[in-house]
Parts: sequence; structure tokens; C-alpha cells
Amino acid sequence: MKTPAKRKAIPQKARQEVFKKYGGRCAYCGKVLSPKGWQLDHLIPVQREKWGKATEFEVENFNNFMPSCRRCNHYKRAHSLETFRRYIEEIPEKLKEGNYIYKVGLDYGLIEEHPKKIVFYFEQWEYENNTDSIV
Ligand SMILES: [Zn+2]
Repeated sequence: MKTPAKRKAIPQKARQEVFKKYGGRCAYCGKVLSPKGWQLDHLIPVQREKWGKATEFEVENFNNFMPSCRRCNHYKRAHSLETFRRYIEEIPEKLKEGNYIYKVGLDYGLIEEHPKKIVFYFEQWEYENNTDSIV
């Protein structure tokens, strides 16, 4: 496993700007973020899954900093945005695999699946606010 390169800490003032980037909400799921419980995600991961380490220029800039809840940041990990999107879209299938109870829940209508194309909160935000796309 590669050792992450040492990176400079992001100054508190810059972190606050990232927090406010999408109105204090998670850039991915849109949940309201707690001022103390949020995490700064790198849209282009620092350690990429397949192509090796990203350059400092690619990852250490405001456009690449995303306010994120812990769950989204944890689930996204070092994946690209499109891989993250696919992983979320595949959640019902993943839950079904070998999960007898999930299938019983489906049979009894306790669980309903709603397959859909995932649009991240920041994508909708940028569409509505006519800002330049960062992806
Ligand atoms: Zn989230």
C-alpha cells in the first residue's frame, strides 16, 4: 500500500469556505452538515484507485474541496465521482445478494426499490445556480 504524500493542512478560514460552498450541506447527499461533524473530501481523490497518485495541482485547490458528511466521504473513499455514483446506484443489488431478510422485506412490501440515476447535490446546486461545472 502506498504511503500518502505529506500534505499541508488546509487553513481554518479555507475550511470554512468549503463548509459554506453548498449552503452548509453535504456536496453529495445534500444532508445538512454539522459544523463539527463534516469532512473535507477531495473530489479528485488524492490516492486514486487505478491511475496512481494525483498531482498536488489537481487535488489541492478550492474546486476540488468538497464538504461531505462522514458517510458519503467514507463510501466514496478514493473512488472517482462516476465510480461513487455507480456504487450508490448498485446498493439495492448489493443488499439483495445473499440477504434473505432483505428479500423477505421486498416480498412483503416493507422495502421498495426505486432505481434511479443518482444526481449529487452539488450537481443540482450548480445547475440551479448556473455556476461553472467543476466536473
Ligand atoms: Zn453525504
